Amino acid sequence: MFNLIIFGPPGSGKGTQSVKLAEKYKLKHISTGDILRNEVKMQTELGKKAKAIMNKGELVPDELLIQILHSVIENNKMVKGFIFDGFPRTTVQAEALDQLMNKVNSKISCVVSLEVEDDEVVKRLLKRAEIEGRKDDNAETIQNRLNVYKTQTAPLLNYYEAQKKLHIVEGKGTIDDIFENICLKLG
Ligand code: AMP
Repeated sequence: MFNLIIFGPPGSGKGTQSVKLAEKYKLKHISTGDILRNEVKMQTELGKKAKAIMNKGELVPDELLIQILHSVIENNKMVKGFIFDGFPRTTVQAEALDQLMNKVNSKISCVVSLEVEDDEVVKRLLKRAEIEGRKDDNAETIQNRLNVYKTQTAPLLNYYEAQKKLHIVEGKGTIDDIFENICLKLG
């Protein structure tokens, strides 16, 4: 299996790049943000728990995310690999992901971090707010999501750097240029 994690602050384009990577490498794309937004829309128990947290730009509790990942991985054992978009976001989640991959006799192959400056992501997210109307794309929540990324998620890059799996990619430029740069790093 070829299992990829894509990191980047909100608005870095990791969702867009994940779709392209999933197509090229024939991977199953797992976006935990999309899964959670769907749960909110369907008004499930999980969605009800997650809604207010997501609207504030905070992180949904680790155990809920780990349960979601557990069932997605267990139900897709035959795929060529996964691309994890938006997961892991904490050390607890990263360690749980290693264990979940272990259970299916696999491991994380590569990690990509898309680097984009704060000013640029704020600009992009405010634009996305006009187009998609996502509840968490407003000035205050964006700032909080950026802080959460820096304090809780970015430190995970060290975890993967220590395992020599991390590739840093400049997230500025056209979608196709960025995609090409990611593919070059993946070799
Ligand atoms: P995203 O679409 O990846 O930006 O995620 C949107 C929101 O969903 C985040 O701001 C969190 O509230 C929640 N979320 C998504 N993935 C996770 C995760 N792995 N852990 C905790 N919360 C998450």
